[in-house]
Amino acid sequence: CGIVGYVGERSAQDVVIDGLRRLEYRGYDSAGVALVHEGAIAGNKKAGKLANLEKAIAEEPLPVSTIGLGHTRWATHGAPNDRNAHPHRGYGGRIAVVHNGIIENFDSLRGRLEDDDIQLVSETDTEIVAHLLELQVESGEDLTTAMQRVCRRLEGAFTLVAIDAQDPDRVVAARRNSPLVVGLGEGENFLGSDVAAFIEFTREAMELDQDQVVTITRSGVEVSNFDGTPASGRVYHVDWDLSA
Ligand code: GLU
Repeated sequence: CGIVGYVGERSAQDVVIDGLRRLEYRGYDSAGVALVHEGAIAGNKKAGKLANLEKAIAEEPLPVSTIGLGHTRWATHGAPNDRNAHPHRGYGGRIAVVHNGIIENFDSLRGRLEDDDIQLVSETDTEIVAHLLELQVESGEDLTTAMQRVCRRLEGAFTLVAIDAQDPDRVVAARRNSPLVVGLGEGENFLGSDVAAFIEFTREAMELDQDQVVTITRSGVEVSNFDGTPASGRVYHVDWDLSA
């Protein structure tokens, strides 16, 4: 699937939709976007091609925001409909998350969420991650620590990108055997499932290892391992010729 994350000064909706358009070859079962706006998550998601999402947003505009994420889906768990489209939200609506790949142990994790009376609204393996992250941030953890902790419980291959409605300066991503690159800007930073997601805005990129979490803010990028120890990515220059 295609994944885009952004924090900076531009319209996050525009950056995300542009990025998704360049990644659409990776999946077109559905498309979705989520933004942080005044302490809440705003967004929309639609089955079918990106054009369906763009039409929905044109009819019902989202608030202006400079932090957000988006996804085009290649369904593995659950039908390609609006409900199963990403981003998925936590039980209280505070977290929004997008995911590429498969969470192998989602069934056992789901069982535990149901014991806590958390009702699932989709059939995806992804939704449990939104609830698990929400439990952690609600207990007082920041989103980076929450992501590290949740990733330690996940099996399978995944790229995850998440935002917290109560943290308008942080997008957090993680990867295990699934693609994720960081785009480095001035006063802004990007995430993508490949550099096409942000090539229009920056050619400075950072590659991560497997089993790492990356936090982007307007002023910087921080990498860690799933156990919380600090790590560093490899910065490189993307010299694609876009006119080719
Ligand atoms: N397994 C997830 C789903 O089916 C993510 C699929 C993807 O990589 O797009 O929703």
